[in-house]
Amino acid sequence: MSIHFSAGSVCAIVVSAAFCGPVAVSPEQARAQARQNFDAVKVETHPVQGKIYMLTGAGGNVTVQVGPDGVLLVDTQFAPMAPKILGAIRELTDKPVRYIINTHVHADHTGGNEAIAKAGQDVKIIGHENLLKAMSAPPTHQPFDFSAPRGDWPTETYKDKQRLEFNGEEVELIHIQKGHSSGDTIVFFHGSDVLSAGDVYASNRYPTFDPSGSIEGVIIGMNRILGMIKPPDKQGKGGTAIVPGHGPIGHQADLVAYRDMAATIRDRIRAMLEQGMTLEQVKAMHPMKEYDPTYGGPSTGIGSADGTIEEIYDDLAGLPR
Ligand SMILES: [Zn+2]
Repeated sequence: MSIHFSAGSVCAIVVSAAFCGPVAVSPEQARAQARQNFDAVKVETHPVQGKIYMLTGAGGNVTVQVGPDGVLLVDTQFAPMAPKILGAIRELTDKPVRYIINTHVHADHTGGNEAIAKAGQDVKIIGHENLLKAMSAPPTHQPFDFSAPRGDWPTETYKDKQRLEFNGEEVELIHIQKGHSSGDTIVFFHGSDVLSAGDVYASNRYPTFDPSGSIEGVIIGMNRILGMIKPPDKQGKGGTAIVPGHGPIGHQADLVAYRDMAATIRDRIRAMLEQGMTLEQVKAMHPMKEYDPTYGGPSTGIGSADGTIEEIYDDLAGLPR
């Protein structure tokens, strides 16, 4: 969700997310450990459809649109990944990066903004206005500190919707309120028929959201996407391809199943809360056990069963995080 180097905290990088917790190592040790972990990571390029590719590595998925006008990126992974991301783009085209769109503020999606923008040509970084607010806030050095260096900040913000024409197709940005964060953006490439969902849909783990988001917003966000995308035809061909924030490329049926799972666990946790159960009692009931083989993801922290139960419980109970 976020990687943040501050005294007394270390970030252990797992395949698709980073979780920071207080442990007894020096900041230098933590930084050295994090660098080593990034050194070992390979960036892989997955063709999606039309003009779109998906890059995986450490952190969120990167969407790459390639064409005669240059390169448009959705998200940029962690800062140390930038040289590898740029290397993968060079394999696809000689054209410069011209746009970076951020789906949300977390550093596993925005950390590479500055370095990648510097390597491009008059790069515009676009994000929702709440993303800029979070990035430009004074650092707190607390777990949900999303402040970032000025070079990572959006150069342009929007409020509800924004459209741009690039590489001969319409690219539409839509804000999802209080979803995975307060500044979520989904990006629809109309010509290629590809939608970048950000972490409103992170298909290899349970739904998560930071304290500015909500489970209701995540589900509403998925419903918004389902209202925009097309299913494959009867032969299973075509249809909108979805690049999730984390996890493999999906289609309508994958998102329907994920949305149904999210709504089911929300309903179960709400019912237990209404019966007066404590958080520990809810966890002991394993309210999403049958989904563990599909969405179990990490065993602790962000996107784990217990991590998600805690987020949903606190959100529905109106408790601070
Ligand atoms: Zn995130």
